[in-house]
Formats: sequence, structure tokens, C-alpha cells
Amino acid sequence: MVQAVILAGGKGTRLASRLNGKPKPLVDVDGVPLLKRQIDNLMANGVDDIVLLVNHAANQIEAFIAEQNFACAVTLIDDGDPRGTAGAALACLDRLQDRFVVVYGDTLFDVDITHMIDIHIKSGAHGTLLLHPNDHPHDSDLVEISEEGWITAFHSYPHNPGWYLRNLVNAALYVIDKKCLTGWVDRIPVGDFAKDLFPAMLTEGALLQGYVSFEYIKDVGTPTRLDKAEGHLRRGVVERARRRYPQKAVFLDRDGTLNQLTDYVRKPDDLVLFEDAGAAVHRLNDAEYRVVVVTNQPVLARGECDVAGLAQIHAKLESELGDAGAFLDAIYYCPHHPHKGYAGEVPELKIDCACRKPGMLMIEQAVTALNIDLARSWMVGDSTADIAMAGKAGIRSVLVRTGEGGRDGKWPAAPDFTAGSLAEAVDIILANQQSAGTLAISETIQQ
Ligand SMILES: [Zn+2]
Repeated sequence: MVQAVILAGGKGTRLASRLNGKPKPLVDVDGVPLLKRQIDNLMANGVDDIVLLVNHAANQIEAFIAEQNFACAVTLIDDGDPRGTAGAALACLDRLQDRFVVVYGDTLFDVDITHMIDIHIKSGAHGTLLLHPNDHPHDSDLVEISEEGWITAFHSYPHNPGWYLRNLVNAALYVIDKKCLTGWVDRIPVGDFAKDLFPAMLTEGALLQGYVSFEYIKDVGTPTRLDKAEGHLRRGVVERARRRYPQKAVFLDRDGTLNQLTDYVRKPDDLVLFEDAGAAVHRLNDAEYRVVVVTNQPVLARGECDVAGLAQIHAKLESELGDAGAFLDAIYYCPHHPHKGYAGEVPELKIDCACRKPGMLMIEQAVTALNIDLARSWMVGDSTADIAMAGKAGIRSVLVRTGEGGRDGKWPAAPDFTAGSLAEAVDIILANQQSAGTLAISETIQQ
């Protein structure tokens, strides 16, 4: 049995104009009550036992559940007083299974829960939190993770100016092992998961994992957000962001394509984004491309920058893109360099590797991790290595005349298009999009 707990106690004051006296979980979302969308989606993704923590207008939710007669177990627990999200779950912990999924009653989502639980179990985490980038990280609560995906810190808005954080936001969907919560029942009688319980658990050594996903999950707790989500449903955005649905991607080189090509980028100050880069990436986000940076960073092999330093540089990149409402779905980098014999170098990184462009390994890793459909994907870069890699991968390429502008001459490279800037490259991509006509079939085959 896979159990999900839906926190359905909210009153929905901000949504009052859309509720017609109903409690928030029953708000109409393009003709279907939100709670029905949530339960149907959970069932479609392997959940067969649902616990609804209710409070406000509990009788209306109870009547709705009775009338719907869902094909899974649904238990209502009225938790009495409002206790916050964590307080409510902790108060009924003895009625929950050893492992459960937590869902908030005001989110519209389409998430492969079975896969998320698999990742949770394999990692040995106590709790796994779905994280995603959004288009306004500067006023969001952000989560910091290690290279291996472990959560290392929670940063509440407002953020310190001059501090760069990756664009990773807690999307409010968790997998939790009950045993790691038992010690907290008396300590957090009232409180939230995100603001109180998880940060406290982290300080006491709990293993919390970040599960970074592009799948659709959005809070629909205000009329504006609800309208936007309804538009996404109608246009198929929600469905197309399913993990099993092949994703189209634009692979972007970093130095010389997104940011100015200087000697080398060794620290955050060295990274200067091109003025129009944020707006260009934002247009790719809107067009539902997965945007994936693939970059050779031999500064690591040369010992001029370490992994933590590179993380800071990428936090600046994501932060400045975020200021333009843009985000990256993933960043892959090659830390290697083949030529030995320099002072300060890191010997174990001085190797001939498969990831250094024009090697294909970074693309292959992204294809596996994000289920990328190469037939509809693109590479944009300023060097012959970028274009040569695109040729090997069989994806269309745009050479930008910024940075190296293809003048490095290191590899035989014939781009499909050339552009004056990333913005022009995006014009070309959006004007030459490949059809997705056969995707429904390939999705069926993959399942
Ligand atoms: Zn490499």
C-alpha cells in the first residue's frame, strides 16, 4: 500500500471569490474539483490509500468523498484546531503508515509518485522533498542541496543581498519515513513542515533529500494562480510535463553563450551574463523546452576553482537568470582536462574523459535523467566543440557569434544555423520547432 496524506484543512480566504461557500480543496479547477484532480492523479501514480486531514468545512469534504466513491481507501481525520501542516500530520502520526507521501490541499500536480518513492528508498533518506526552479526565486524560500542531492540548508525569503543561491524552491510534496517523525510529536504541536519541522530536523542530522523535478506542481491558492493553472491544463502544459513524456530540450553552452567569454570564470564575480540572456532563456522556458547547460570547466582540473566554488558560480548564474524570470532545468559540467604538467593541477582530473565536449557523456546523462527526446532538441554554443558534439548527438545546432564565435577551429563543425546572440538563436529555434506528432505513441511504448 502506498499512502498519501492530503492536508485539506485550509479555509482558502484568498480564494473566497471562487469558492461559492465551498472549502478550498473543493475549488473548481477547469470543471473538476481540485481534490478530485489530486486523488485521481495520486491513484494514477500508484497511491491506493489516502488520508485527508480536514478541519474547515469538514462536513462538505466528507459528503464529497462519499458521493465520489473513489476506487481507493479514503480516510478523513478531523484534527480539531488548526495546527499548521506539520502539526496536523504529527497529531495523527499513529494512524499513518511507515512511509507516506504528503500533499498540500491547494496544489495542482501531475507527479510520478512511484518514481519519487523509488528514489527516496534507494537513497536511504528520512525525507525527500520535491524541489523545482521557479520564475521568481528572489522572493521565494530557497533550499540548498549538495552535489549528491542532500539538503544542506533552508533559506527563507528575504535573502541577503550579494548572496547567491541556486533557484531551488520547495514545491510542497514530500515522501517521509514515519520513524524519523516520532520524536517530534510533542516538540512541534503547532508548526509548518517547511518553516519549522524540516529545518529543525536538519539541525539534528536528519537525512533530507532534494528531488529536483520538472513535473508540474503549482500552488493554486489565489485567483491569479488558479487562472494560470487552468490555462496550463487546457493547453496541455500539465500533461506534457509528465516525467514519462519525452521532453524537448535546448542544451546551452555557458561561457561565450550565456555569459561573456573572459579568460576563465574562477569565481562568481568573473561571471557576467549577457544582457539579453535571461529574456532568451525565459522564452525557452515558456515554450516548454527543458533548458540544460553543458559546459567544459577545466578550471577544476587546473586547481583554479573547486566544486564548492563552481557551485557558487552556478548559484550566481541561476540567481541572475531568475531576476529575468528564467530558469535552468539542469547544469552538467566536465571538470576534466587532458593535458598534464601544470603547477597546481588536480592529477585525478587530468584525464581523457568522455564528458568533455565534443564528448557526448553530458548529453547522454541529461537524456537519461530528464527523458529528453533528441529528435526535437537543440544545441546552442559559441565553440566548434559545441557544434561537433551536436553533430555526434544528431541534434540541430545554432552557432552564436558571441564568445569564440566558432573561430577556435579546434573541431570540424558545421552548424545548422548561425545567430548573432542567444536571443537570435532562440528566434531560430522557436521558428523551426519539430513536430511532436508521434509522441503519444512513444510514450505508450516507454511505459
Ligand atoms: Zn570530463
